[in-house]
Parts: sequence; structure tokens; C-alpha cells
Amino acid sequence: MKNTLVVGSGISGLTMALLLAQRGKQVSIVEKMPFIGGYINRFTRQGMRFDTGLHFTGGFGDSLTGLLEILNIQDEVKPAPITANIMLADSGCNIAFPGKGLDALADTIAAHFPKYTDAIHRFYTAEQDVIDHTPIFDVKNYTQADFLSQLTDYDAITVQEFFEQNGLDLPELQALLPIMSLCHGTPPVECPFPFHCRCAYGLDANLSAIRSGGDAFIRGFKREFARYNVNILTDTTISSLQFSDTQPICTAATLSDGQTLEIGDIYFAVHPSAYIPLLPDRLLTPQFKRRNRNLKPTCSFFTIYGTIDDELHAPNKLTFFLEDSDINSILTPGHLATHSSTGMVTSNDPQNAHTTFTAFRTMFVEDVEKLCEVTRDNYRNAPRYIEFKQQYREIILQDVYKAYPEYKGRLHIIGTASPLTCSRFSPPIGSAYGTRQLLAQSRTSGRLPVENCYALGHHAQFPGILGCMLGAYNLAIMG
Ligand SMILES: Cc1cc2nc3c(=O)[nH]c(=O)nc-3n(C[C@H](O)[C@H](O)[C@H](O)COP(=O)(O)OP(=O)(O)OC[C@H]3O[C@@H](n4cnc5c(N)ncnc54)[C@H](O)[C@@H]3O)c2cc1C
Repeated sequence: MKNTLVVGSGISGLTMALLLAQRGKQVSIVEKMPFIGGYINRFTRQGMRFDTGLHFTGGFGDSLTGLLEILNIQDEVKPAPITANIMLADSGCNIAFPGKGLDALADTIAAHFPKYTDAIHRFYTAEQDVIDHTPIFDVKNYTQADFLSQLTDYDAITVQEFFEQNGLDLPELQALLPIMSLCHGTPPVECPFPFHCRCAYGLDANLSAIRSGGDAFIRGFKREFARYNVNILTDTTISSLQFSDTQPICTAATLSDGQTLEIGDIYFAVHPSAYIPLLPDRLLTPQFKRRNRNLKPTCSFFTIYGTIDDELHAPNKLTFFLEDSDINSILTPGHLATHSSTGMVTSNDPQNAHTTFTAFRTMFVEDVEKLCEVTRDNYRNAPRYIEFKQQYREIILQDVYKAYPEYKGRLHIIGTASPLTCSRFSPPIGSAYGTRQLLAQSRTSGRLPVENCYALGHHAQFPGILGCMLGAYNLAIMG
């Protein structure tokens, strides 16, 4: 049987590989790093396991539960409770998420801004409407025929235009309502309204943490891969691809370890810049080239990791702390010193002996490279970079103590990571959510101009764990 290659083993590639193996394909995963998982990897500091890019998800709801069952890893991946609040430092606004669906969230925000009650409800009613018209959220009943009905009335407007059309002119509301933009990375002024809704829905309605985070997923996937004889090749990339002279198809792949595999299909779950150079120019259409020419990265994060003294009994909690309400600037490069937000997660995970705390401040890889005069390849021991890391550790701690004054003297930082560290987990770009989704710019997802090659991943479809899994499932159903 010919090989089906899945390139990249983040949550997108892992989900795709297992769905293909379940469909009887002989699957090999090609992963550049020495380990599988990409951003869902946990890592260890002082005996504690910390998450890289999986701190919470949009509740287990029907979609995630359904997907876990389809993948047969529901016994490994279990929810853990978490509450959330948003603090806007410039206005003193502090709102706790009810975590009981969109109506409850709309009521909660409206109680703080009664003049805007109708418009706030219109925002979340529209979000629900988008989800109701996105059949893939109903994973168990989703079919190929449903795919075409995914367009909604809102497809032609941005989140910012929705605000303008609905009289939502208050800066605080323009930060609170699309707060989950911080979980997909496209600023409201650029972001198609339905894309925002699909990424934000579960997070708005019913947030959840995951017991053992990415470790739970990776355990489940490894077990299922063993059942289906999925071949995992780590520390490996594709050196070159061979193509038919008569048809637009790929016939074989030569890997960095020297072996050549005969190819059935290839699924690229990596950034387009990692696979486009492998495809022959003669097969690429002008539309494809234009679409990929101006891809813009999303933000990444500067992160601090630590533990909290146990006697505080701090519960699992997510806090979005915004120094100012300008989400558009926060999510656009060039505002490192002036606009940022810090997400903070307190976690009592069964894997850990103590409560852990992670705070991540929005930041762009390109801004760090410019400020520190380094590149992704040479930053490690650069004096300016070391100084920058110390400086931002302190800046983030100031935010943390504004949000959690009780943590002063009881929070012990044991690690930091910059956006450049992220480029090790998700090479070559290192942005948290792949590429920004712009209005009127379709993503390169699904079949590529080479007929047996496909693109997926948060670069290609939706970011976030659930989005990446749904993207892979969509591709599997589309055949
Ligand atoms: C700090 C941070 C916090 C986040 N928090 C959350 C959260 O709480 N909840 C949530 O849902 N999402 C969160 N996200 C986003 C989420 O982690 C990502 O959207 C998702 O994990 C992306 O999965 P992916 O498979 O598409 O890509 P990745 O995880 O980036 O995987 C790509 C894989 O491809 C490999 N690769 C790259 N190039 C090649 C090549 N040439 N050959 C072979 N392999 C290659 C990489 O090594 C990597 O393993 C966060 C992200 C970050 C950075």
C-alpha cells in the first residue's frame, strides 16, 4: 500500500493522522522536532509540568466530546473546571464570566453597561446564529453535503464593522465583547465576524481546562497510533518531493534520513512557508501564489511560569488583564511598549504537586527580533535578549500583582519563554495562532494545486485546539 504522509505533529497533524489511519490508510508522520505534539507539548521545570499552548479550551460541549469519541481518546482527555474574568485596567472594569452559555454572558456584561443591553445581546445572538449555521460543530451528524451551507449572512463584515452597525461605540465594550480575539490573534478591525464567532464560541459559552493538558492528548494519540501501526518519524523533514510528468500529482518523497517513500497522499499540517518550496512552480496557480504571498503572522507570547504557595488554596482561574482597551493595537505588531494584554492561568493539575501559575503577554516575534537585534537562529546568548527577558519578567509581574495582589511574595517564578522560544515548538514562524485571517482572503486549506497534497493546521483553518481538530475532521469528511 502507498504511504499517506502527515507532515507536522501538532494537534492538527495528530488528529489528521489518526482519522486517516482509522480509514485504513498506511500513515507516516514526519515531524521536524525530536518529539510529537507541537504547541500541545508540556515541559518540565523543577519537577512541575507546564503547558506551552494548551491552557484551556472552549468547554467539552458536543463538538470536542464528539471528536474525542471519534478518535477514541475520550478516556484520556478529561475536563477540569476553570473560571474566568476580564480586567480592564484603564477603566477599572472587572467582569467574571458566568460560564453558563452566551445568554448569561450577555446578561452579565449588560448589567455593567445597561444603555447597551440590546446591542450586547445582538452581538451574542449573532455569534450563536453563526454557530447554528456552521454544521461542522455538530460533528456526529456532519456530512460532505453540509460543507457548502457554511456561509452566513455575516461573512462579508469584520467584527469592528459589526460594532459600528450596532452602535457599540464604547471602547470598553469593544474590548470585552471580542475578548476571545486574544485566542485567535486577528484584530477586530481585520477579522471576519464569523471566523471570530467560530473561534470564540466555546470559550465565551463554557470554558474548560484539561486534566494533564497536552500530555493527556499525546498519551491517547500514541496508544491509538500503536493500534493502527502509524509510523512516527521524529527529527525528520522532507528533503524533496518527486512529481509525475503527466499529471499534477506527487509520486514519492525523499526524507532527511535518506529514505524514499512511494506516496499516496500528503497532508501538510505546517506553515505554508515550510511546504511551498517543495512544490514545483509549474504546478502552482496564480491564485495560490497570491493567496500565500502576504500571509501575516499572529501575535505570540512572552510567558512566565511559576508556582504559588499551597496555603493560598488558589482555584483554577483564567484572567485576561488589559492595560488598555485597544485590542486592535494589542494584536498588531509595532506596539510592544505601548499596547499589550496579559493572560494569567492558575492551575491545580493532578500531575503537579503544587499550584502552578502561567502569565502570557501578547508579543510579536518580529518586534522581539527588532528590539533585541537578533534572529530566531542566534538569539539565545545575545546580551540584549537576556536583558530584554529580565525586563519583561518584571513588567509582567507588575500586571500579575495588580490582578492578584495576594500572590505577592507567594509566587515563585521558575521559568520564562519569549516568542522566540515559541518558534522552537512551532517552527519556522512561532506565532501563537498561525496566520491572521483577513476579510476577503481565503485560507489555503484543503486540496492544494497538486492533487494528492492537502493543507491543514491553524495556519490553514481555525486556531486553537478545538479549531485545529475540527479542521482536520472537515478534511477527513471531505475525503
Ligand atoms: C503561548 C500559547 C498559548 C496558547 N494557548 C492556547 C489555549 O489555551 N487553548 C487553545 O485552544 N489554543 C491555545 N494556543 C493555540 C494552539 O496551541 C495552536 O493553535 C495549536 O496547538 C496549533 O496546532 P497545529 O497542529 O496547527 O500547529 P503546531 O502545534 O504549531 O504544530 C506544527 C508541527 O509541525 C512541525 N513542523 C514544522 N515545520 C516542519 C517541517 N518542515 N517538517 C516537519 N515538521 C514540521 C512542528 O515542529 C510542530 O510539531 C496557544 C498558543 C500559544 C503559543
